[in-house]
Amino acid sequence: MTAFDEIRVENMVIDFPVGGGLFRRNHLRAANDVSLTLRAGEALAIVGESGSGKSTCARAISRILTPTSGRIMVGGQDILAPGFREGRRDYAARVQMIFQDPFGSLNPVHTIRHHIARPIRVHNPQLSPAQVEDRIIATLDRVGLAPAVQTAGKYPYELSGGQRQRVAIARALAVGARFILADEPISMLDVSIRLGILNLMDDMKRDGIGFMYITHDIATARYFAERTAVMYLGHMVEWGDSDSVTQSPRHPYTQLLISAVPQPGRPRAHARPVRKADIAQRGPDSRGCPFAGRCPDTTDQCRAVMPPVTKLEKDHHVRCHLY
Ligand code: ADP
Ligand code: MG
Repeated sequence: MTAFDEIRVENMVIDFPVGGGLFRRNHLRAANDVSLTLRAGEALAIVGESGSGKSTCARAISRILTPTSGRIMVGGQDILAPGFREGRRDYAARVQMIFQDPFGSLNPVHTIRHHIARPIRVHNPQLSPAQVEDRIIATLDRVGLAPAVQTAGKYPYELSGGQRQRVAIARALAVGARFILADEPISMLDVSIRLGILNLMDDMKRDGIGFMYITHDIATARYFAERTAVMYLGHMVEWGDSDSVTQSPRHPYTQLLISAVPQPGRPRAHARPVRKADIAQRGPDSRGCPFAGRCPDTTDQCRAVMPPVTKLEKDHHVRCHLY
């Protein structure tokens, strides 16, 4: 059994083949040199617009896809190394994804009890039927689906979107999740119930569950996550302590995201003018800063050279030639 206190992603690169000819394959670089750490009992928010590579990184960490290069370290072992074969089943149980649309991951012909019972039985074959039922009820209670006995007998269509997302979380717990990779888990829910889901996940941190919280909403990142990483076109452009990143954003892209957040009591701040250059996708041969085409402060250096990582404070890093 591996120690599951943290998952450390090191220099992960993920390329996708995108057409090209017989002799020349073109590749899209969806993640470039991504390094991040997920810790037990904490949340790391991954923030960025659509297409920035957030889901791709989560899919790699949950082993749905294999990165082109890089390492994913758990307890001193690289889960991508051939020697890790034995640990893979355990890893697959401990690292669970939940998605934007909880309906899509539930089977309409099965009750909630069925959805939760299956993983409990698979992972605990020694349990009696009565013990399995006890666990189902305890798990549904844990995620706020009271009265649990009634909820267990319902079908997915009888639940609200928020309740379905709670079932998805309950199932991750039933499988034995230590880390939950939540890919925009509240963006399809009614605004009125989003906070309830965030508060439930926040509560689960105290049980030691670690979260990767993917969102395009930097305001909820600050509310829920201890640390925040901002991604743009496959690159981490700024990361660190959520308060530092959101209160003193340094990267022009982070500043753009923050200025787009409506603030109660003050008129919407005007973003600095963003250049309308096309947002070119990145390939293995792309040079320079990924944001150079949109940045108000672009120089020739930005277009030619990838900025190195600058450490601003103890836990605040930026990848920008301005610093
Ligand atoms: P995000 O979750 O931040 O919106 P994604 O990780 O879904 O971004 O996508 C990042 C980039 O990778 C996008 O340009 C997307 O079109 C591309 N992409 C994602 N999955 C594939 C795939 N299986 N094949 C080719 N391109 C992909
Ligand atoms: Mg996505």
